[in-house]
Amino acid sequence: MVDAPIYLDCHSTTPCDPRVADALIPYLTRDFGNAASRTHAFGWKASEAVESAREQLAALIGADPREIVFTSGATESNNLALRGAALALRERGDHIVSCVTEHRAVLDPLAELVREGFRVTRLPVRSDGLLDLAELEAALEPRTVLISIMHANNEIGVLQDLAAIGRLARARDIVLHSDAAQSVGKVPVDVRQLGVDLLAFTAHKLYGPKGVGALYVRRRRPPLRLVPLLHGGGHEGGLRSGTLPVALCVGFGEACRIAGAELADEAARVAALRDALLARLQSALEGVELNGHAEQRLPGNLNVSFAGVEAEALLLATPEVALSTGSACTSSKPEPSHVLRALGLDAMRALASVRFGVGRFTTAAEIDAAAQAIARQVQRLRELSPAWERRRRRGH
Ligand SMILES: *Cc1c(COP(=O)(O)O)cnc(C)c1O
Repeated sequence: MVDAPIYLDCHSTTPCDPRVADALIPYLTRDFGNAASRTHAFGWKASEAVESAREQLAALIGADPREIVFTSGATESNNLALRGAALALRERGDHIVSCVTEHRAVLDPLAELVREGFRVTRLPVRSDGLLDLAELEAALEPRTVLISIMHANNEIGVLQDLAAIGRLARARDIVLHSDAAQSVGKVPVDVRQLGVDLLAFTAHKLYGPKGVGALYVRRRRPPLRLVPLLHGGGHEGGLRSGTLPVALCVGFGEACRIAGAELADEAARVAALRDALLARLQSALEGVELNGHAEQRLPGNLNVSFAGVEAEALLLATPEVALSTGSACTSSKPEPSHVLRALGLDAMRALASVRFGVGRFTTAAEIDAAAQAIARQVQRLRELSPAWERRRRRGH
């Protein structure tokens, strides 16, 4: 038997924290009630557990518990936010502003809204992955009703200046949604300070279970109205019908509690490991280039290109480290990431890029071993690469 690989793919998902697993298991077995059952103790207990989880989610993002809607994950939260707001605001306008580097869980629902008659402007980004706010401002029209800009990017980790975007949106009375699946629990997120009206996040990216997420829906001054995606039972204030997965909600709550309590220490520790990883790779290899803004990024994110190397081949040659290129690839042939292309990277460099996701359970020894394994394979693949030979002969 080989040892389990070193896990450095924390943007894809994170392991459930054992404290989270311990908290949720009793709600699968002993306390299995339906939170909507009003006539007996099983239901009351489940309902209390869900409401206390809702408070834990709200506390992590500076919201009121009544502003939290449980969903199945960030994909559903994004769909509910975009579709729900666009349909509710249809009388006022038909124009939506978003960004080319968004996750598919935003781009695809927006494409669907275009098929239904909405107009969507997808803004480009600068070569560091950040939006140009003047360009965003210039894209706003009298008929713009919704802006959707992600907080942290899932490939390159860059953090957009949401607070500034929030001020632009508020001044024009435009609804602001943010996909914050990567940032909640990793960096401070406060919905009032950011000025967002809608914010999507998900448990499995912050050491909670898969299959549960949430949407923050502003209720203050005035409450934001959404058209629901699902009908049947009127759970979650009519916004998301369906029996709540009580155990998953409890796990999500505990994950948020832990993230809030440990955020500052964890961010510092994870960032130090991430920086050590980059330093190790750069001292062992030439031609290691960072993608995305160097500072304005998630503590655990590192996205680098290894010149002359095909990332897919590298990852397959390094089974002892669990890594990803970051681009959602469904076909058998790797496509250059739409995010990296948006930074202006050519297809060759985009296909040479690897995303490292350092997390809560990553150790310094794992960073050393992973850097060594990657450096060894990069060197081996470069020896076989005509492109790398040409580059060397040109004297780079
Ligand atoms: C993971 C992720 C999603 C999807 O979340 P699920 O809970 O898996 O549906 C959406 N947006 C971003 C930025 C993500 O990283």
